[in-house]
Amino acid sequence: MAQNKFDHNGLTRRELLRWMGISAGMVFVGPLSGCGELWERQPVIPVEAWHKGVCRFCGTGCGIQIGVRDRKVVNVKGDEYAHNKGRLCIKGILNRDILYVRDRALHPMIRRNGELKQATWDEAMTLVAQRFREDIDQFGPDSVAFYGSGQLYTQESYIANKFFKAGIGTNNVDGNPRLCMASAAAGYISVFGMDEPMGCYEDIDAADCFFITGSNMAECHPVLWERVLDRKRSKPGTFIIVVDPRRTITARHADLHLPILPGMDVALCNAMIHEFIRNGFIDEEMVENYLSFKKGKSVRTSDDLKRHVKQYTPDRVGSMCGVAAKDISEAAFRFASSKATMSLWTMGLNQQSQGTAANRLVMAMHLLTGHIGRPGATPFSLTGQPNAGGGVRDTGALAHALPNGRVVTNADHRHEMEKLWGVPRGRISSKPGYHAVALFEAMGRGDVKCCLVMSTNPAQSLPNATRYRRAMQKAFLVVADAFHRTETTQFADVLLPAALWAEKEGVFSQSERRYHLVPKVVDPPGEARSDLDILVDLAKRLGYADLTSARTPRDVWEEWRKISAHSKYNFFGITYERLEKERGIRWPCPTEDHPGTCRRYVPGEDPLAHGSGRLDFYGQPDGRAVIWIHHQEKPKEPRTGEFPLTLTTGRILEHWHTMTITGKLDALKEIHPDFLQIHPQDARRLGIVDGTEVTVRSRRGQADFIAQLTDAIRLGVVFATFHSARHLINRATNDVFDPFSKQPEYKLCAVSVQSKTAK
Ligand code: SF4
Repeated sequence: MAQNKFDHNGLTRRELLRWMGISAGMVFVGPLSGCGELWERQPVIPVEAWHKGVCRFCGTGCGIQIGVRDRKVVNVKGDEYAHNKGRLCIKGILNRDILYVRDRALHPMIRRNGELKQATWDEAMTLVAQRFREDIDQFGPDSVAFYGSGQLYTQESYIANKFFKAGIGTNNVDGNPRLCMASAAAGYISVFGMDEPMGCYEDIDAADCFFITGSNMAECHPVLWERVLDRKRSKPGTFIIVVDPRRTITARHADLHLPILPGMDVALCNAMIHEFIRNGFIDEEMVENYLSFKKGKSVRTSDDLKRHVKQYTPDRVGSMCGVAAKDISEAAFRFASSKATMSLWTMGLNQQSQGTAANRLVMAMHLLTGHIGRPGATPFSLTGQPNAGGGVRDTGALAHALPNGRVVTNADHRHEMEKLWGVPRGRISSKPGYHAVALFEAMGRGDVKCCLVMSTNPAQSLPNATRYRRAMQKAFLVVADAFHRTETTQFADVLLPAALWAEKEGVFSQSERRYHLVPKVVDPPGEARSDLDILVDLAKRLGYADLTSARTPRDVWEEWRKISAHSKYNFFGITYERLEKERGIRWPCPTEDHPGTCRRYVPGEDPLAHGSGRLDFYGQPDGRAVIWIHHQEKPKEPRTGEFPLTLTTGRILEHWHTMTITGKLDALKEIHPDFLQIHPQDARRLGIVDGTEVTVRSRRGQADFIAQLTDAIRLGVVFATFHSARHLINRATNDVFDPFSKQPEYKLCAVSVQSKTAK
């Protein structure tokens, strides 16, 4: 049975780690674990100057030292003074190499006779402005759109949002955070009245129970995962619960693994709450003073919750989820009885049609047991991209949103932003724009005719990809990207070469609300420009130059921090000078002498929290967090005779998202990113042999993979990576979405798997 073999002709992951000088059992590297050896294997170029920066990849937001010589990045190392204490994972180490891969986009290009041909910036931008203007004038502002990314800097997303909503007058501003974080955002807002986690990374060092659900942290947030293991090493009684249909690397370290069927999180949480109540673990003071209860639009009570969860007994939920009832009871006992429990989650919880409900219920588990607002006790969602939180959710660069928690459907919010942005009352539309899936649907119908896509690859990352690739062919697509060849640039009418990471300056915000600065230390290659420059140029050509009078990263940040002062997301005190000097600062941070906030809603810690009580949920009008009552729903796409298996998807340590970056790195090319995990019993029944080619098929499409037989995946479920375009699993995934967050259900759909070699 193949466990570690990823490419039958290339390196195994173990071999790669060895080649990189990393001990094979470790998934990260730090100052003590062989990082130095990696660099000794490469030409040693003395560094002229080190600059403080941040990793380009995941939302952990590791601090990096960037070594420069002769205006080239020649080295990177972990920043010992940042929260990651010098640690970086493999992707972090390769931040230098990403700048110097082949296939960087060097010149603007315009599609002529079906082919992208080199053009000048003026030609390209004139054409883009002309197409936007014609469509706006002829079909109205909602015929154009912006589709952004959690990889843009905060200044870039902020300006795009302002220019489209307050300039053009359309709310068609959305982006890839809709695909990964929307359910967490909808969960926080509906429970606390405000987005973003209330805890911080220091909570990991104080927790003695971890509830990790729908997250393979060891591969997707490896440096944070190492911090969890540090806690376990230093306090051996620390209990780790992992909820995941797969026995991932993370799950292998669990004290208790619940391999539930995909999409059954609501039932599991209800059963845990059932057990909290049965065993007297409810924090009655929390219920009395800090919580309210709701079901749909109606107000409920704690007694309603008790009646509701009565039916979610561990026995019943155990058979619904396919796990032992006693394990659910054990998980509930450990969660509630620990001194401090921290939940960590990401896409497994978010990417389902009940993603918001699942998020609300994990938060409810903390609120009901009082595991909140103390060191180590907090719900804490992890972010997949380096800037999906602060850059997109907080700037309001989503179709329904405005900055700092405001929404377009609220007249007061619109008028407040119109005043702050200095545009006439009524300029911001009250109609929500198209969210990600709806936007590409609208392109297919011809309703959205022109779209600017920045720093993302929707032709590969959208679910039911074939449908939306067809839609992209119909629209006039402008793609700004650092790379020439991505699945999306295939559909581009104009390709604009964009600067990458330390070739431009900007602010990222990672999972714990920490804003931190990435400096520009080298020039971009060819004629590439920063995305901020491109946006400012387009705004000017369309006649909105007055909205982008702040056009440098510093000036835009100054504007943005002042805007935040008018909200409960206040980070007015995070000046550019502080960003230059400090290793990031966590908001709220209302004044220049405020150190930033570790735990929100805690009077004495959070400068916006008031009163003498334990907590002040000041995002809610009555100061009470909301416990939502939800039932587990049936799967949107049940298994059938034709499609008898459930597909779930995810990623591996070495590659990142659609591999537009990591797929081009020589060091990682040999790590085969694509495989399909299938249980040996399912494989035997289907005549599938380990290491042979199979086809995964759903009602929407199919993709080929190499089968990896393993009992790490549960019977009846198959797991595919979503990394490469050659094995485009998103042709098969389902584009149904959560009704609240509009986040698609990548994590479960019904498929068949067939051997390509069996006779
Ligand atoms: S854990 Fe994330 S932020 Fe840290 S080095 Fe790895 S990819 Fe970069």
